[in-house]
Amino acid sequence: MTDALANAYDQFMDQPDSVPVLTVLASETTETVMSLQDLFAAASTLGGPSSVPRLRDVLLSLQPLLLRVNPGTAAEMVGLRHSSIAAHFRSRQSPHIEENELWLLVDVELALERQEELLEHLDECTPCLELLARVERLKRLFARAGGDRAPQGLHERIRAGVFRMATGQAGMELGEQQESQRPRT
Ligand SMILES: [Zn+2]
Repeated sequence: MTDALANAYDQFMDQPDSVPVLTVLASETTETVMSLQDLFAAASTLGGPSSVPRLRDVLLSLQPLLLRVNPGTAAEMVGLRHSSIAAHFRSRQSPHIEENELWLLVDVELALERQEELLEHLDECTPCLELLARVERLKRLFARAGGDRAPQGLHERIRAGVFRMATGQAGMELGEQQESQRPRT
């Protein structure tokens, strides 16, 4: 996915009813295209558009991301223009990576499969990438301070405030901002 498309995509996310519709279209079980009626039924169960005309408005606003066959008719079929859009959407909707796991990642202590999952998420998620950069920076700080590994119990101490001291107030504010952007589950 190009940067331009990713930026445009973020704007789509702010529009009401877009997320339920995209959730259905980006589902791994969704066929390439689905009928408008099926899309409406599935998105409704997720709190999506309240009527078919409203769904059509949402589709119009998402137009650049979509493949529409017979648009505006009863026989309309809808899909995503490209599978990378679905992958991008799914990774955006997946939970952010816990800081503990980022430490395990930089220490290369994760199972290969999980490592792949995290790298895939990091590929699409700027907040987690920024958190990873800070974990790596802290790791280097500790390495310079003597050990080649972060000491035992470090993760809890980071949460308790060591992090604030090591990175400065600005870094902490950024961290809190990220926290508030994380989807509540
Ligand atoms: Zn993330």
